[in-house]
Amino acid sequence: MELIQDTGWAGQPATVEQPLRGDTDCEVVVIGGGGGGMSAALRLAEQGVDVVLLEAKTLGWGATSRNAGYITNSIAADPELLGLFLDRERLRSLYRYAENSVHFAEKAIARHGIDCGYRREGIVMAAVSKGQLRHARRNAKVLAEAGSSATFVEGREAGLPEGFLGGLREGVGGTLNPGEFVLGLRAATIAAGVRVHECTPALDVVDNGAGVTVETPSGRVRARKALLTTNAYGTTLSITPKHLSTPVWTSLVETEPVAPERLDEIGWTSRAPMVTLHMIIENYRVTPRGTIVFGTRRVQAGRHPLPDRTPAPHVVDDLVRGFRERFPGLRDIQPRRAWGGWIGMSSTWLPVAGAASDNVLYSLACNGHGFAQAQYVGHLLAEHLAGAQLDEDLAAIWHGRKRFRRSLVGGTALYAGWLADRASDRLSALTK
Ligand SMILES: Cc1cc2nc3c(=O)[nH]c(=O)nc-3n(C[C@H](O)[C@H](O)[C@H](O)COP(=O)(O)OP(=O)(O)OC[C@H]3O[C@@H](n4cnc5c(N)ncnc54)[C@H](O)[C@@H]3O)c2cc1C
Repeated sequence: MELIQDTGWAGQPATVEQPLRGDTDCEVVVIGGGGGGMSAALRLAEQGVDVVLLEAKTLGWGATSRNAGYITNSIAADPELLGLFLDRERLRSLYRYAENSVHFAEKAIARHGIDCGYRREGIVMAAVSKGQLRHARRNAKVLAEAGSSATFVEGREAGLPEGFLGGLREGVGGTLNPGEFVLGLRAATIAAGVRVHECTPALDVVDNGAGVTVETPSGRVRARKALLTTNAYGTTLSITPKHLSTPVWTSLVETEPVAPERLDEIGWTSRAPMVTLHMIIENYRVTPRGTIVFGTRRVQAGRHPLPDRTPAPHVVDDLVRGFRERFPGLRDIQPRRAWGGWIGMSSTWLPVAGAASDNVLYSLACNGHGFAQAQYVGHLLAEHLAGAQLDEDLAAIWHGRKRFRRSLVGGTALYAGWLADRASDRLSALTK
């Protein structure tokens, strides 16, 4: 099987935007050109703000082009768990923010005419055991109270494959090809007049009160304000709030093409994209190229400086084992390629945006569900930087200047989560 260092969804851009050489001034500098940074820079340019976007590699090179391609209104932690810690109003505002993120991403695809195979098909948080099914029913109740459009569905009625008993169907969202999406958003960002510098890592960001100075290998940017959208790489810059995020490596595998009648035979008649209800989720979806992409399940914590890397062979083996267990009728289907990317996990496990200093804002909207959310937060932060009041959806995740507690996410905790999931799999196999 091929282990890929870039995204497996699409090729890299054919040309590279000029790296920064020398010094330059602007009103706002955006650091990190993923979905969040591109969306922010685009909105600023549309409002007539002189904006520079610095990207260490090429726009979209990070998680935004590498992910599983679910446009989802999920929020990092399990809804039932969130309900234990957050009051009803806070939950409602978070789910409103998450659904609006989905609508925002869908509108961005339409507005920029991005050809990325988007299918508005909803996503099922699917149960693979009776325990998970009971959990799904409880989650449906929490989500209904939070105003989310998710509903409980039975496996047969939802056209799920054998072994998937039912679950929660999100009322919004669907799937796309994130690699193609990134190429489209990159083109729109450049066309909007953003001054894009690729292959230009920000090495240091200093807020001197009157403005911000960003050092790069071959030049310096002076700006009135700055926005950090560096996701998992955030803590390499000393201005990033301490403990804001922990980097976690997440892997995906793609199979050879599967004949549609094979999917019908195993009962996956709806082709609904699925995410399991394990502590560390598994995801399974059919792609427009007729393959199945699956992933997560076994994730790994990272340390800075984060390496450019491929998935670990033992993680890929575990993902393939999981695929064969979930889809016994497709045991002969061969995995072909694997790739992965770095996710930034916030210490609260919730999406978060705030201020690192008077003139520097940040966004960390990801936690594995940030494809649409990072873009929406980038857009809202751009409007705020351009003078708008704090939008109510931005207020729902606003952290201000407060400190973060040290995260409990680490290699040992992630491995323990994987072990607990395998133990619950074994238990449900014994009690079937
Ligand atoms: C394998 C995988 C599967 C996932 N699946 C899903 C999914 O199905 N649905 C979903 O909603 N989410 C998913 N996610 C999460 C989602 O992809 C992210 O939450 C989202 O893309 C984050 O966007 P971003 O713009 O914040 O960060 P990124 O896309 O990571 O962009 C950050 C950018 O900043 C650049 N950068 C970093 N440091 C610097 C610096 N010092 N100077 C200049 N540039 C810098 C990086 O090169 C990078 O391009 C997944 C993630 C992974 C890795």
